Amino acid sequence: MIPALMPTYNRADLAFERGEGAWLWTSDGRRFLDFGSGIATTSIGHAHPHLVRTIAEQAAKVMHTSNLYRVPQAERLAQRLVESSFADSVFFANSGAEANEGMVKAVRKYHAENGHPEKFHTICFEGAFHGRTLAMISATGNAKYLEGFGPPVQGFQHVPFGNMNAVRDAIGPNTGSIMIEPIQGEGGVRPADLRFLRELRAVCDEFGLLLALDEVQTGMGRSGKLWAHQWAGIEPDIMSSAKGIGGGFPLGAVLAKEKVAKYLKPGTHGTTYGGNPLACSAGNAVLDVILADGFLDNVDATARYLWEQLTALVGRHPTVLTGLRGAGLLVGLQCADGVTNTDMQGAAVDEGLLTVAAGQNVLRVAPPLIITRAHVDEAVAALDRAFTKAASALREKAAAK
Ligand SMILES: *Cc1c(COP(=O)(O)O)cnc(C)c1O
Repeated sequence: MIPALMPTYNRADLAFERGEGAWLWTSDGRRFLDFGSGIATTSIGHAHPHLVRTIAEQAAKVMHTSNLYRVPQAERLAQRLVESSFADSVFFANSGAEANEGMVKAVRKYHAENGHPEKFHTICFEGAFHGRTLAMISATGNAKYLEGFGPPVQGFQHVPFGNMNAVRDAIGPNTGSIMIEPIQGEGGVRPADLRFLRELRAVCDEFGLLLALDEVQTGMGRSGKLWAHQWAGIEPDIMSSAKGIGGGFPLGAVLAKEKVAKYLKPGTHGTTYGGNPLACSAGNAVLDVILADGFLDNVDATARYLWEQLTALVGRHPTVLTGLRGAGLLVGLQCADGVTNTDMQGAAVDEGLLTVAAGQNVLRVAPPLIITRAHVDEAVAALDRAFTKAASALREKAAAK
């Protein structure tokens, strides 16, 4: 019989009762170091006192009023995001996919309002992940996600990630925008070359296209800068954020330059929950932590230490791992042929460490941004034990042949 909870995920048989910082405890008392952060989402760790207090206090006052009224918490969060980004204006949503939907609607509207309704095509990239709504599975373009859901939403073309010639070839009279993750997260923690990002900015300027960045996973400090595109020294025209922005509370955002944002007038786009007092209080509390003096410098320094340790780890286990990639506290460990990332994820669980599998046989490491070197040492020790066992199992298998 089907479980009451719809079986859309292959869930590990672990149920967590409480968390604190980078740690999680199951109801039967086992402790895990959380280097997955609920898929790069619990950005300031579990039960962060400032976030907990803020949510509790706001919940006791008013959680939701709707966007029929002013929401001071949303106005404040938007203002702070504008001051910390390229953007002039922010729309709040409830998830990454919903933020991306808003972003794609905004770029289409921009061209329509500028007399080019035919420019509704967006160039996307192979290996992308933009979410699970009907339009976003089309933007994602992965056949596995599209299958069985009828014709894809029109207007999304896919070209190889990092291939500038393919981008140029794909630009036609219907092209209005380019949409890219600065680091493909679900697709296997594949960073775009910084030069490629700069070339995309240039080609958008050359052809009057809008550059739309999906920073749902890479934003909010994950890369060691507030936004991953800052490493490339470019500015998009529009960007989505979610995951880490609410620290575990559902929140998404579309950040846009005025030239795009100005066409999203009353009646053009909306949401009932999006940007409600509770969600935006959470967002403000997360921002209090991430924008505090020295916080991002510390993320960057801890990330550099993590990279040193993981690089050495890869060197110690050449039969299990072949390399690592990503940026900041979003790292992909490339599993070798004959090794399966989900098996390694399970092996890490056996050693008390949570990670997340990603595409291309990659094991993703995405700890909360509040971790210290001591957490890194514990996580790397756990991975070392897991990979040592995996390597000896591989040797036994080879010997048995
Ligand atoms: C997770 C993710 C999404 C989808 O976010 P949801 O909150 O699951 O809808 C979109 N884009 C990227 C890059 C993501 O990592």
